[in-house]
Amino acid sequence: PSPIRRCAPLSDTFRVSGNIELNPASGVLNLGQGLFEGMKAYRKQDGNILLFRPEENALRMRSGAERMCMPSLTVEQFVEAVKATVLANKRWVPPPGKGSLYIRPLLMGSGAVLGVAPAPEYTFLIYVSPVGNYFKEGLAPINLIVEHESHRATPGGTGGVKTIGNYAAVLKAQSAAKAKGYSDVLYLDCVHKKYLEEVSSCNIFVVKGDVISTPAIKGTILPGITRKSIIDVACSQGFQVEERAVDVDELFEADEVFCTGTAVVVSPVGSITYLDKRVSYGEGSSGAVSQKLYSVLTRLQMGLIEDKMDWTMELKPA
Ligand code: PMP
Repeated sequence: PSPIRRCAPLSDTFRVSGNIELNPASGVLNLGQGLFEGMKAYRKQDGNILLFRPEENALRMRSGAERMCMPSLTVEQFVEAVKATVLANKRWVPPPGKGSLYIRPLLMGSGAVLGVAPAPEYTFLIYVSPVGNYFKEGLAPINLIVEHESHRATPGGTGGVKTIGNYAAVLKAQSAAKAKGYSDVLYLDCVHKKYLEEVSSCNIFVVKGDVISTPAIKGTILPGITRKSIIDVACSQGFQVEERAVDVDELFEADEVFCTGTAVVVSPVGSITYLDKRVSYGEGSSGAVSQKLYSVLTRLQMGLIEDKMDWTMELKPA
C-alpha cells in the first residue's frame, strides 16, 4: 500500500490497496493521455447503496475518450464495473448521514509511445475512498477569488472533458489562492476575459430573484452532472434557469452564488474577490436557494425522498 498525499476529500488513513505497474514511456505519463470520472455512493437506512446517474458518467467518459483518442467502454461495461467495485468495497460505504464513498474511474494510455501519438494500449481502473465534505468549510459558505491571469481552458481545447491535464493547469492559481486563505478559484473565459467559466472542481450558479443563471456549455467548461441535475431540480421548484454567458460584473448584483459538483454537492459561496473588489453574500450562512437545492438533491441521492426522475441506481449488498 502506498499513501496518497492528503487532500480535502480523503481521510488521513486513506490508502490505495495495491499499486499498478506503468511503463515509463506510457502515454499517460508523457502526454497526459488520461481521463477520469468522479462519482459517489450513499448508504441508505435499509443498508442498500445508491449510485447517482452512473450512466451520465459513462457517457461523459465516452465523449472524453473520443476527444483524447482513446477507446471507450460501453455504458453497460462502465456501469457494471462501478457496481462491482462498490459492492466489493461495500464495507467502506459510510453509514447514512456520515458521508459517502467517492468513486474514481480512470482511463489512461498505458502503452509506450515516444513520439506524439495515441498510446497503443489502455488501462481502465476504479478506486474508491470514503469521503466527507470537500471544502474545509464543511457546509459553510466558501470564499472564491476570480483568477485574471491564467486560464484552465481555451476554445477548441480540452476544457469540456474530464482529462487529467485540465487539473494540472489549475494547480498554480489554486495553490496561490489557498495560500491567501481562499477556498478555491473562479475562472473567466480566455477570449473576453469577463465571462464566468467554472471553479477548479465545480460549476457555478448565480441567483438574482427567481432567476438562476449558469454559464452555458460551450466546450470550455465541464458539463457537470450535478449542474444538469440542479437545473432540473431548480425548474421543478419553480425557478427560471438560464444557461448563457454570465458577466463577471453580475456577481456584484447577485443575491446568492453557489457551486455544484459531485464532490462539493451544492456549496454556497460566501464571498468573491475580483481584482480589488469583494462581494459578500448571506452574512456567513447559506442562501435560501442554495439551501433548498442542496436539500432536495441530497435527500434524493440518499434515498430519503421519492426518486421521480429515476436518477438513482440501488445496489443490494449480499
Ligand atoms: N467542473 C470541473 C472542472 C470538475 O472537475 C467537476 C467535478 N467533476 C465539475 C465541474 C462538476 O461535475 P460533476 O457535477 O459531474 O461532478
